[in-house]
Amino acid sequence: MSSYFQGARTELLASTIGDKLRETTARFPDREALVSRHQDRRFTWRELDSTVDEWARGLLGSGLVVGDRVGVWSTNCWEWVALQLACARAGLVLVNINPAYRSHELGYVIAKSRMKALFLWAQDQRANYREILSQASHQPEHVIYFEPGKSYWDRAIEPGAADSGHVVNIQYTSGTTGSPKGVLLTHRNLLNNGMLVGRQMKLTEHDRICLPVPLYHCFGCVMGVLASVVHGSTLILPNWTYDAGAALAAVDADRATAIYGVPTMFIAELEHPDFARFDLSSLRTGIMAGAPCPIEVMRRVVDQMHCREITIAYGQTESSPVITMSSADDPLEVRVSTVGAPLPETEVKIIDEAGQTVPHGMQGELCTRGYLVMKGYDGEPEATARTVNPEGWLRTGDLAVMRADGGCNITGRAKDMIIRGGENVYPREIEEFLYTHPKVADVQVVGLPDPRLGEAVCAWVRLKSGESMDEDELRGYCHGRIAHFKVPRYIRFVDGFPMTVTGKIQKFKIREEEVERLGLKFAMRATA
Ligand code: AMP
Repeated sequence: MSSYFQGARTELLASTIGDKLRETTARFPDREALVSRHQDRRFTWRELDSTVDEWARGLLGSGLVVGDRVGVWSTNCWEWVALQLACARAGLVLVNINPAYRSHELGYVIAKSRMKALFLWAQDQRANYREILSQASHQPEHVIYFEPGKSYWDRAIEPGAADSGHVVNIQYTSGTTGSPKGVLLTHRNLLNNGMLVGRQMKLTEHDRICLPVPLYHCFGCVMGVLASVVHGSTLILPNWTYDAGAALAAVDADRATAIYGVPTMFIAELEHPDFARFDLSSLRTGIMAGAPCPIEVMRRVVDQMHCREITIAYGQTESSPVITMSSADDPLEVRVSTVGAPLPETEVKIIDEAGQTVPHGMQGELCTRGYLVMKGYDGEPEATARTVNPEGWLRTGDLAVMRADGGCNITGRAKDMIIRGGENVYPREIEEFLYTHPKVADVQVVGLPDPRLGEAVCAWVRLKSGESMDEDELRGYCHGRIAHFKVPRYIRFVDGFPMTVTGKIQKFKIREEEVERLGLKFAMRATA
């Protein structure tokens, strides 16, 4: 039996995101749609829909035309959700930018996406975004600062009909080739993924989702916002950025029935000093995803957080994002030992290096096909062709094993990505950035096991002859230019790297040597 599985057949949604929002509003006009606890703002579906209308008209009134790209560089706030839905309704393309990005990364994304407008807060406790933007290599035509109570629009133009096959969102992901690539995603891709993900959790208009994950990532804006738009569930934003206490308080005070997170977030919640003081009895379900989910953590989320129907999802940005997901009904054993089976209308196969589908139980690269596969990488036809073949199969770069019932296990990564607390870090991207330091001759970046974050970034640096530098100087160069989660935790200055006879650098040896030297074996066990 070969490792191929086709999810159940179901009717996919043909509507656009804007139309689906209209439909849900008509069904539940007075139910709560969105709560931003840190901003003290609440919207019913009717209020959200009319705000989205106003913003969609305003965006077009400010000179943007259908197909234009609109960036959002912000932590979680109601404005982010309004902009996402308004762009969809106006036929504009939202470009998500990680709020942790700094000038080097921001300039790159502004240029690469050719965005016409950028929405951001001028500053917050974490950063002065206005200043970081001024240091970026490229600037968008329009820069609009979010401000409480501000009226953004001078002129209104009624949107025309949007098309569900059109690109509505660009999300950046790095792949193995260094610089971030823009993943082009359509209404059909995203709305259907949101629909199917919500269905696995049996979401209804009576559910309330606590969303501590960032909106800029598909976990937030698709599995959170769009699942809520399709099923009429309330979306609760606990804070601007992740805070375990705020997430627990949101569940308690706002009676959430579902909670999302990467494993690191659930661990932080379970370990919060006031954990026992929060009433989490309203919880029923949720999603853990984004990185390997330890069985022990799953069990504690079921027992101590009352999420009897917690699910695991696996996927990637290029697949809208969810490919496989367990269901609220699956026995706990299935939910803790696999990442679930392919969602409806989703094909999955596991292939070997020759491209042949492997037998059940054998490891290979997971590939997927169906409505969920991205339209492509923005302006990068070669990279797209390497990732999606002419038959429509997307290569994920993840290694997996499939069971006879379609349940999959993620066993490793074909690409050498580091997952640090749920944030993907691409060694090549950090290496290329560190090369830009005038004293650096060569550099190799690897991930080391870390008991708290899963993995931590380590850089081995060879300096140009005659140069000297210490760790602080190199870290200082990183701060403000690249996101904090990419700044190496461990830096070692070396004279050379372990090589094969053919001159290929052996990163696994760097990893082994550091694990030995730093005494990280315990951490490896904890994250295995
Ligand atoms: P992103 O494109 O940021 O969503 O990252 C996707 C990558 O995260 C995948 O290609 C996997 O390597 C990893 N990933 C996501 N979900 C899981 C999971 N449930 N278990 C293991 N790895 C995961």
